[in-house]
Amino acid sequence: MNLHEYQGKEILASFGVRVQRGHIATTPKEAVDAAKQLTEETGTGWHVIKAQVHAGGRGKGGGVKLAKNLKEVEEIAEQIIGMNLITPQTSAAGKKVHQVLVAEDVYYPGDSETSEFYMSVLLNRGAGRNMIMYSTEGGMDIEEVAEKTPHLIFTEEIDPAAGLLPFQARRVAFNLGLSGVAYKEMVRFVTALYKAYEQSDASLFEINPVLKTSDDKIMAVDAKVSIDDNALFRRKNYAEMRDVREENPIEVEAKALGLNYVDLDGNVGCMVNGAGLAMATMDLIKMAGGEPANFLDVGGTADAKRVEEAFRIILKDPNVKAILINIFGGIVRCDRVANGVVDAYRNMGDSIQVPIIVRLQGTNAEEAKEIIDNSGLAVHSAVQFKEAADKVEAVLK
Ligand code: GDP
Ligand code: MN
Repeated sequence: MNLHEYQGKEILASFGVRVQRGHIATTPKEAVDAAKQLTEETGTGWHVIKAQVHAGGRGKGGGVKLAKNLKEVEEIAEQIIGMNLITPQTSAAGKKVHQVLVAEDVYYPGDSETSEFYMSVLLNRGAGRNMIMYSTEGGMDIEEVAEKTPHLIFTEEIDPAAGLLPFQARRVAFNLGLSGVAYKEMVRFVTALYKAYEQSDASLFEINPVLKTSDDKIMAVDAKVSIDDNALFRRKNYAEMRDVREENPIEVEAKALGLNYVDLDGNVGCMVNGAGLAMATMDLIKMAGGEPANFLDVGGTADAKRVEEAFRIILKDPNVKAILINIFGGIVRCDRVANGVVDAYRNMGDSIQVPIIVRLQGTNAEEAKEIIDNSGLAVHSAVQFKEAADKVEAVLK
């Protein structure tokens, strides 16, 4: 689950990580009030108005702007709230901005003593360990830094038993070229950041930029945070931060139905029971010359109602040209699934305009094939994996 910048900063602050402070606003008037309050709290005269959407590169798209007085706060908030923000990380359609973060200006004018760094904490799956990735090249697109100047990116791998060791935090500060107060501040920053990552069940904390101010404070100016979905049951306060407006609407609907659905770019819709079989089915589709339109695991109960719900979800994707149903009848009997498919098809009437290939294997597979073949519907049955692949290939032609 991805979070907004302001939510990520709230979590960071709760673990003692210094952050650029701010308040959230959903109208220009609220933005002005937020700015006034912030001036009282921090003494800041200038404010940065930052669009809150789940996408990076907001600055480049005109979603981060400096306001030098309250009138500008109001004008800029007026511009940004409700706009369709297009950044290098959004689709061409952009993302609608519902709220802005009104933040203190932390770059003092004409200040050459500030520096921007990059820092993220994430899981290195290859090593099976968490790692801190950091660079002197902050505020830039890190993928570009990795490509052009990979020697400017450092990593620190964390032993899960020992945690982040003090010498590692010091090495980070040293590699970033810091000394004196800034060095000590950075050691504290990294230590608190790692603790925040570990204790919030996050899968990513990316801070770009980490700012060193002219008075040697180290703080998070941006925050991209992802919390592991599988941990949300024990992180209720984070689960409440979910903003479904930022998520794929089909995925949100599928989740509410208890379907494990991931939207993809291809043209063959898949309905499968079991995550492993779903992965194998996606491979099968690729081998047949198609591209999966989705990953969908309907779980153990593939009855008529569930099959119908899954059909409806798959058909919401306009790119779907064919549907492959691949169900293994272990506990659930294939003939019942076949009846479910036929019933769902009949119930849905004209809304199914694409060919359907059904492969049912396991208990009562033969009876299931008969039910499909005798239904008189535009449903093709297959018993073998290869047969199913050939049929997908044939209907895509
Ligand atoms: P992103 O573009 O989505 O990554 O959003 P960021 O939060 O990283 O902000 C983009 C850029 O705005 C930063 O890299 C900074 O250069 C700039 N910025 C952020 N906060 C301030 C601020 O307080 N004052 C000034 N002058 N610039 C800021
Ligand atoms: Mn950023």
